[in-house]
Amino acid sequence: MSILAVPLHVAANGVGDVPASSLVNGVSVRHVSSMMKKPLVTAAVVCLVVLLPATCPAAFQIRCASLSGRTYVFLSDVARYYGMKYHPGQKTVRLTSKYSDLRFTLERRECVLNTVSVHLSFAPRMWKRNPTISETDFRLMVDPVLRPKCLPKGTVKRIMIDPGHGGKDHGATGRKYREKDVNYSVCRILVEALRKQGYTVSLTRGGDTKLSLERRAKLARAWRADLFISVHANYVATKSVRGAETFLLSPKGTPSTYGNKSSKSLSLGNAFDKQNARAAYEIHKGLKTATKSSDRGVKHARFLVLRDAPCPALLVEMGFLSNSTEESLLGSARHQRKVADGIVQGVRRYHQSLLQGGAAK
Ligand SMILES: [Zn+2]
Repeated sequence: MSILAVPLHVAANGVGDVPASSLVNGVSVRHVSSMMKKPLVTAAVVCLVVLLPATCPAAFQIRCASLSGRTYVFLSDVARYYGMKYHPGQKTVRLTSKYSDLRFTLERRECVLNTVSVHLSFAPRMWKRNPTISETDFRLMVDPVLRPKCLPKGTVKRIMIDPGHGGKDHGATGRKYREKDVNYSVCRILVEALRKQGYTVSLTRGGDTKLSLERRAKLARAWRADLFISVHANYVATKSVRGAETFLLSPKGTPSTYGNKSSKSLSLGNAFDKQNARAAYEIHKGLKTATKSSDRGVKHARFLVLRDAPCPALLVEMGFLSNSTEESLLGSARHQRKVADGIVQGVRRYHQSLLQGGAAK
């Protein structure tokens, strides 16, 4: 078993777990300066991942190991990196602070980041009694959720909303409602709610028209969108399945949530991996809070509208038309309003996190 050194790029502004309130009040990230002054000392000198913030007097180090040709980082060091408490269990590991609570399960891709279910690209694994997570999941999912400074500084002004399906393409069909109609109704409410918050918003389809997936991504590019949100409703043969899920593009070299094959190709949308993670996390959290839907989690996929997106993008599956309770909810104006409000809350929090961003583009 070899151990690799992997350069990870960290913002010049240091590290620190983020107080949840800072996202609302605009308070900047809490710095953990004592941590930055003392490099982590390890008895067994293995190759270390060295994080070198330009303005810091000393490097912070996170140990890593290579397992099946993939790089994994020690969760104990990740905890110290964020100034969090480390609670290893038999099969689970918990990292806690005043602001955050992360729960990982060994050999299971699903984890919980601050009450939100998130499907990692790879399951956490044990290496010589050290629980680890993949470097990709640390860098492209956990870090964007905990540390806005790792995001490129930016803003959100123009949002393109994409009601899934349309025209001859009805999408999923429940007993009473068709997906294309539910998607469109929610999107109309969402557009108005976002405009009230001062955003400039456009719809990919302004009525019941068929639109190819390529055309939707092209429209976002031509319109110069800062954020693209595709809205769908789900359907599955098992009628009891219910809940909301939010998809972001799978990073290069990782499998999608429903699959084990890793794609080596880099898509256009992979330029926004970190923003995608933060946006998906915030919008899913907003959706789950506003609707009280059961949480099926933030997931990865290579849907064409995500692959070809010219900006951070995500796809929301609001609930299941195959479940009679959720179908009734999705057809009601009251619930549609809740879905739209949840997405708006998420957009606002994502926007706040970009304003705190500090990484170079
Ligand atoms: Zn759909």
